[in-house]
Amino acid sequence: MIESIVIFFRRKRKLSGYATTINCFDGAVQAPARKYMKRRYNVKYVDPIVEPGIVKILIGESDDPDAGVILRQIRKKLKMSIIDHKSRKISIAAHHNCLGNPASKEVQENQLRKAKKVIEKMIAEYELDIEIVLLWIDEHHMPKEVPELLGNLSFKETLYKTAK
Ligand SMILES: [Zn+2]
Repeated sequence: MIESIVIFFRRKRKLSGYATTINCFDGAVQAPARKYMKRRYNVKYVDPIVEPGIVKILIGESDDPDAGVILRQIRKKLKMSIIDHKSRKISIAAHHNCLGNPASKEVQENQLRKAKKVIEKMIAEYELDIEIVLLWIDEHHMPKEVPELLGNLSFKETLYKTAK
């Protein structure tokens, strides 16, 4: 019963517009990122910007001699998605068992946080209200949002310790 109500509401949802996903080229992680963005933001389409280990390229830690060219391509595609497709929601995704970036989840999560800053700088000139979400796609191909390390988290900790 509850399930059928959920399905009913899902079908009633009107999807429109575009979002963007910056993701690894790995075929296993395309659908998870696309579906996540469609569900999270009710968009109809998701522009994929993909390269093997793309996060490493974004943060300048790739040893690919073409990294500079790839970075310019990423910037170009991002502009098309934002300006032409009016995308206002961007995800940057990393995943388990990545060939292009064989680092641990913890390392990749920190790389994602750095990549977010790079993308923010890249799109700053458009002066648009754009939301960037970070995704970790696990071994079951399930995407999960990566929490930001907030500066005030340690501040809260300090308060807590002082109170004790
Ligand atoms: Zn990968």
